[in-house]
Amino acid sequence: MNHDDLRLWSKRAADWAHDYHTNLRDRPVRAQTSPGATAAKLPTTPPEQPEDPAQIFADFAAIVPDAMTHWQHPRFFAYFPANASPASMLAEQLANAMAAQCMLWQTSPAATEIEQVMVQWLARALGLADRFSGTIHDSATTCTLSAILTMRDRATGWDSLQDGLSGGPRLRIYASAQTHSSVDKAVRLAGIGQNNLVKVATGPDHGMDPAALDAAILADIAAGHVPAGVVLCLGGTAIGAIDPIDQCIRIAKAHNLTTHVDAAWAGSAMICPEFRDLWAGIDAADSIVFNPHKWLGIQFDCAVQFLADPAPQIRSLGARPDYLQTPDQDEVINFNEWTVPLGRRFRALKIWFTLRAYGLEGLRAMIRNHVAWVAELAETLRAMPDIQIMTEPRLALFTFQYAPAGSDGDALTARLLQMINDDGRLYLTQTTVDGRFVIRMTAGAFDCIREDVMMVATVLRDLIPRL
Ligand SMILES: *Cc1c(COP(=O)(O)O)cnc(C)c1O
Repeated sequence: MNHDDLRLWSKRAADWAHDYHTNLRDRPVRAQTSPGATAAKLPTTPPEQPEDPAQIFADFAAIVPDAMTHWQHPRFFAYFPANASPASMLAEQLANAMAAQCMLWQTSPAATEIEQVMVQWLARALGLADRFSGTIHDSATTCTLSAILTMRDRATGWDSLQDGLSGGPRLRIYASAQTHSSVDKAVRLAGIGQNNLVKVATGPDHGMDPAALDAAILADIAAGHVPAGVVLCLGGTAIGAIDPIDQCIRIAKAHNLTTHVDAAWAGSAMICPEFRDLWAGIDAADSIVFNPHKWLGIQFDCAVQFLADPAPQIRSLGARPDYLQTPDQDEVINFNEWTVPLGRRFRALKIWFTLRAYGLEGLRAMIRNHVAWVAELAETLRAMPDIQIMTEPRLALFTFQYAPAGSDGDALTARLLQMINDDGRLYLTQTTVDGRFVIRMTAGAFDCIREDVMMVATVLRDLIPRL
């Protein structure tokens, strides 16, 4: 396959993609396949001789789409969305065509400078203070790991960079039980250890209790431990829990602790000024992560980390071996020094295309619609017999249970969820609320319309009698 073939086949791929997207509503959302079924369709050894692109393409069409869960399906209501605007897909095609590795300014000047400007555009779009700069990572997990590595090194006076942690006092990180498992992963990877992640008590609305945070920090200091940082959440993954950002950051600052706010999903909604009360006080954070790939139409992968001051993170993560030196290194940004991997993709291009193609007003309208339709659905379900809304809508997320009087609501709801996902019209997932099994409902696909969201009520009416 050469570049002339590529020209032909990328046009065919574009046609295929158009058909795929325009017919997506007819497909079941979650893959209706079984483990091993796809692998069984592939030869066990690679080909010795070149194969015809037409055959490769035909096999793709025959094997792959039917065995995929369709994340761009308008009725993908599981997990959080990973939505993708057409403009973002186009930008990815162009980034693919150049296949650049953007580790240094010199290896990709336009990518580096567009990244700088896009981080600034996004900070302004979210209403953040001008003090923030930042960078683009692959995922929120990596952003949070980067922030926690920086907390670790700063708390040891940077000694940990040379000496590691062995023999030193325990470092302590604070987060609520509603924060994402990426925080648990980060403390393990950072060598801080799971037992040094203090899960701070939450209030009745599942947000962190600021008084409990203060008490936990004081108790650790009294015990001879070293508090290193606080991770707060805006829109936790299970039920959309929101910590009181302002009060918790004040307490962290009073103890000279670094703060990182995980707004992976809900951050996108902050382009709408009416939601910004949810993160009042955010401008005092040291680090903030949000995933434009979740709800802003800028396709996976794209996680943005805003930093009030990048210098500490560069001190933790940066490295300049001889073979990466460039003559301009003190005048330019070499983004690999801000992130865990050395190599980096040209992710800023899809931000540029998406923000321009829809404008902030277009993206705000999408998010406002999702929030309004999900609220409308919650009211519809609340009025249905035996359905209980277990957590109220936070932005575009709520949870519910099906529990007729005298029944085992957990078991019935689990069975109902399985029936919903086998039915195929919707895809929903579960979590637990105060120990009870609930179905999570969140909408955010780029092509989702009101009828898609309201279809949840239709499917429930169809399936509940068959439970
Ligand atoms: C999705 C999510 C993450 C993890 O995101 P990745 O980009 O997949 O690592 C972290 N925190 C929250 C609140 C999330 O919703």
